[in-house]
Amino acid sequence: MTTPGFHRHRPVIARNGGPVPVRVAVRLRPFLDKDQQEKGSTVRGLGEKALEICNWRNEQESLKYEFDAFYDEDTNQDKVFKSSVQNLLEHTLHGQNASVFAYGPTGAGKTHTMVGTSEDPGVIPRSVHGVLNAVAKERGAGDGEWTYTIGISYLEIYQEKVYGLLETKNHDLQIREDRERNIFIPGLSEKTITDFQQFEKHFVPASQNRTTASTKLNSRSSRSHSILLLKVVKTQQVQPYRQLTGKLYLIDLAGSEDNRKTGNQGIRLKESGAINTSLFVLGQVVDALNSGQARIPYRDSKLTRLLQDSVGGTSHACMIVNLAPEESFYTDTYTTLNFAAKSKQIVNRPFTRESMVRPREVLKRPADSATDAANKRV
Ligand code: ADP
Ligand code: MG
Repeated sequence: MTTPGFHRHRPVIARNGGPVPVRVAVRLRPFLDKDQQEKGSTVRGLGEKALEICNWRNEQESLKYEFDAFYDEDTNQDKVFKSSVQNLLEHTLHGQNASVFAYGPTGAGKTHTMVGTSEDPGVIPRSVHGVLNAVAKERGAGDGEWTYTIGISYLEIYQEKVYGLLETKNHDLQIREDRERNIFIPGLSEKTITDFQQFEKHFVPASQNRTTASTKLNSRSSRSHSILLLKVVKTQQVQPYRQLTGKLYLIDLAGSEDNRKTGNQGIRLKESGAINTSLFVLGQVVDALNSGQARIPYRDSKLTRLLQDSVGGTSHACMIVNLAPEESFYTDTYTTLNFAAKSKQIVNRPFTRESMVRPREVLKRPADSATDAANKRV
C-alpha cells in the first residue's frame, strides 16, 4: 500500500452526538458515446469503496483511493439516494442541519445526480419526498402537540453574488448570521410546501431556467453553485413552546475544472477575475480544517460563509464526487479525486438548534395549525 494517493485514514465514528465524519462517495457516470467507450475508462472500480486511475507520472503505476462508497457506472439514482442521502433527512426533524453536495468537473454528472429527470429523479426530488413523508409520519404518530412547516428556498452563487432562483427580483442578496450563529439570507424567497406538487410548481421552472442557460464550459451554469434549501420548522403548541429548525442544503457545485485552471495559487486567483472564488476557498477551508488551523477562512467566500454550519461545523454532510470515464477528463479526474481525498478527513459535530417561541407566535400559523387539527381528527 505504498502507492501515492492511497488514503486509508478513517475519521472518528459518531456516538451520541459526538463528532461525525463527512461522508464522501464517488460516482462514475457511464460513457455517453460508443466511440469513446472503445478507448476504455480512465477510472476503475475496486469493490464498493475503492477505485484506481492510472498515474500520469508513471504509466506502470496506478493511483488508488478509498472513500465511503464508490458507485460504478451501473449504479442507479435510487441506490445513490438510499445509501448516501436518505439517512441525513431525519436530522431536519430534530432541529439539526444536513447538507449534500455534488462536486466534480462539468459534464461528469452533478446535475444528473442532484436533479435528474422526471423519469429518473435525483437527490433533490427524492429528498423532498423523503422529508414530506417523514413529517407526515411523525405528525400522524403524534397527538397534535407539534405543528410542522416545510419551506423551500433556491439560490445561486455566481461571481460572488447571491441570487434567488424562485423569484428573479432576488438579486445580490446578503448572507447574515444571527445571535445563535444560524446563517440566513434576508430577502430570499421562501415558499411553504405541503405536498410534492407544490414543490414541483416552484422548483421545476426555476431549475429549467438555470439549465437552458446552457451547460457548456464557461457558461453561467457551470460556474455557479446552486443550492436548494429545505427547512423544517417544528413548533410545540403547548408549554414550553419549543421550536426546532432543521435545514437541509442540497448543493450542485460549480465545475471543479475551474480549480485546475487557477493552479490553486492564491496570487493567480487575484490576477484572474474569471475563476471561481467560492470553489477555491472551499478547498482552503477543507485544508484548514484538516490541518487543525485555528482560523478557518469561511468568510472569504459566499459559498463557505453560507455553508459555515455544513462543512466542518455542526452539520451532517455528504459529498458526492462525480467523475467521467473519458480520457479527456483525466486531469479533472485526478484533481477532483485529490480534493475529495482531503474532504474525507473533515469531522463535523452535530447539535440541535432549538429556541423558545412565545405563544402568540405559535398561534400565527393558521394554515399549518389547521392541517394539524385535521390530521388529529383522523
Ligand atoms: P454536470 O452537471 O456535472 O455538468 P450533467 O449532470 O449535466 O453534468 O451530466 C452530463 C451528461 O451526462 C448529461 O447528458 C447527463 O444526462 C449524463 N449523465 C450524467 N450522469 C449520468 C448517469 N449516471 N447515467 C446516465 N447519464 C448520465
Ligand atoms: Mg450541471
